Amino acid sequence: MTNDNFLKELHNPDMPVPEGMESTVAVTGFNELLSSIYNWGRSNSIWPMAFGLACCAIEMIATASSRFDQARFGMEVLRATPRQADLMLVSGTVTKKMVVPIVRLYNQMAEPKYVLAMGACAIGGGPFKEGYNVVSGIDKFIPVDVYVPGCPPTPQALLYGLMKVQDRIRGQAFGNANSIPWYGKGPSDEVPVPILGPDLIDPRQAFLLRRAAAGEFDAPEPVADSTEEE
Ligand code: SF4
Repeated sequence: MTNDNFLKELHNPDMPVPEGMESTVAVTGFNELLSSIYNWGRSNSIWPMAFGLACCAIEMIATASSRFDQARFGMEVLRATPRQADLMLVSGTVTKKMVVPIVRLYNQMAEPKYVLAMGACAIGGGPFKEGYNVVSGIDKFIPVDVYVPGCPPTPQALLYGLMKVQDRIRGQAFGNANSIPWYGKGPSDEVPVPILGPDLIDPRQAFLLRRAAAGEFDAPEPVADSTEEE
């Protein structure tokens, strides 16, 4: 077979497998082969960000330590910087103050990146749902790939969730911008950083706001958000 014919056959997923070799030969297209090798490497070298918010983080730490041994999945290198991480584990209660740095950290992570919401609090507010200082789920602010329910989830449950992240990576097509936006042209859009909290409207100034609305004088200036960057 000439080189050209060989390459043609290599790209041909309909190429018949010789009799007796069905169990040892996998027929695939070139892009599928490349995707599976590339995704095998990516899914077995995930670098999670060292990042814990509340009690769920204790179970996350247990998962990383020797008994449950997260290192078996190639994920033992917890990074202390978002620039070197591709998985954010949101493990714990997300307060209105904390959601701002979480979104900033997400924006600073390298593409392609993934988010796992661990525990009832990160998924929907948990026991503190609708509390004055807690948001009702991190997925209102950043895209979440895998949810691990529980209060707290066990290390086994978190390991299952991490394996689901691996499955998600393995299902993505190499070079396909629909599968991974990172392959698209130009920089990815940043997630808007939310401004939350009582600083926007001070209820103690409600009577002033009512009078301002009635046109008695200009509305009072809102108090500056202490979480904004200088
Ligand atoms: S889900 Fe339960 S264990 Fe996890 S942070 Fe919330 S209260 Fe704590």
